[in-house]
Amino acid sequence: MNGIGRIAPERLAAETTRLSALGGAPPAGATESGPAQVTASTRALAVRSGGQVVASGGTTGRIKLTTIAPDQGIPRLLRSWRPLGPGDVLLNLFRPGRLWGAHYFYNALATYSRASVLPMGPVSAAELPEWAAVFRETGVNALAGAPSALADFADAALATGTTLPVTIVIWAGEPLTAARRERIARAFPEAALWGNYGSIETYVIAASGPACAPGVLHLLPDQRIDHDEERTLLTRVGEGWPAPVLRYRLGDRIAPDHCRCGTPNALRILGRADDRLKFHNTMLRLGDLLEVARAVPGVTDAQLLLTPDPADLTALAGLTVRWTGHRPDPARDPASAQHPARTPDDDPVRAELLRRVYALGAIAAQHPDSIRAEHVDRLDRSTRTGKVLPHQWLGAVSGTP
Ligand SMILES: [Zn+2]
Repeated sequence: MNGIGRIAPERLAAETTRLSALGGAPPAGATESGPAQVTASTRALAVRSGGQVVASGGTTGRIKLTTIAPDQGIPRLLRSWRPLGPGDVLLNLFRPGRLWGAHYFYNALATYSRASVLPMGPVSAAELPEWAAVFRETGVNALAGAPSALADFADAALATGTTLPVTIVIWAGEPLTAARRERIARAFPEAALWGNYGSIETYVIAASGPACAPGVLHLLPDQRIDHDEERTLLTRVGEGWPAPVLRYRLGDRIAPDHCRCGTPNALRILGRADDRLKFHNTMLRLGDLLEVARAVPGVTDAQLLLTPDPADLTALAGLTVRWTGHRPDPARDPASAQHPARTPDDDPVRAELLRRVYALGAIAAQHPDSIRAEHVDRLDRSTRTGKVLPHQWLGAVSGTP
């Protein structure tokens, strides 16, 4: 496996001994640890010090529990990444409750940074006019949220004519795509972007600042990531982490990168590790399809609806790309005005997918109805976190949506 970051052997040995006693090391004969080890070791630590229970999964798989250290690892994080300082006022747009830790983490980040915080949760365009005065009166100059929530908030600000002197935007929890970045910049042109990457089980693993290249983050010190095509394993040593882990398998694919800011241990998140699916005997990565769809001019965001193959429920029989953004205007496009009858080929996202992803072009030639695209006003969100769902399986096993 390849590696990002370096840990001295004697520190690794000491941490292995400590975590083995807590049940957090890879089980005998295994080369990686998983949710069971994180649950065990963080619960054992909490017996002495307390902590905050957070959970991931539930909608698509089994619930994974972590008891995060009482300080949530923030004092250690602030040694490497400090987006807020005294005088800043943070509007926290992360949704509270339901064992999702992000909302509480950003309240605490502000507190440890001697900044102020408004523990708000998402604000819709309908609600914004009545809250805007509060945000201005309290001096809000910083936002924290998932990129889709930040982009929605930015759209709402523009739509309602709300101006806020935002100079700091903190994002985490999903990719900051080019379209989301542009929507945020349109409403808050002065904002510097501060990002971080982590998981609910580990909290922050890597972070980026305003000088970083788009999409690049830096592994925090005292950590190492071992990775190959299939697996990404995180190890961290030393005191002060929100949850200790040894060769813990992350759900994402990660690749080393370089960053123009000069900070070492740069990396890029490539997508989910488990998003490979068979579609008419071809293996496809769902993340790759989303990337192509999101890069089509005019497209704001996209998600996939998956129709399982009745003969093999782990394989696909059909694929629909749902997308938001601007359709080409028929009045300005004589070709489509002359042929008003719509066919699947008219959709610009479908056309680009067939052109850019060779396997899809081949499948569409034989099974044209198995690949569809649909322009929608709004994508489906997670009810718990408000994040855009990258893909959803359709319950029905026959027919097309
Ligand atoms: Zn950088």
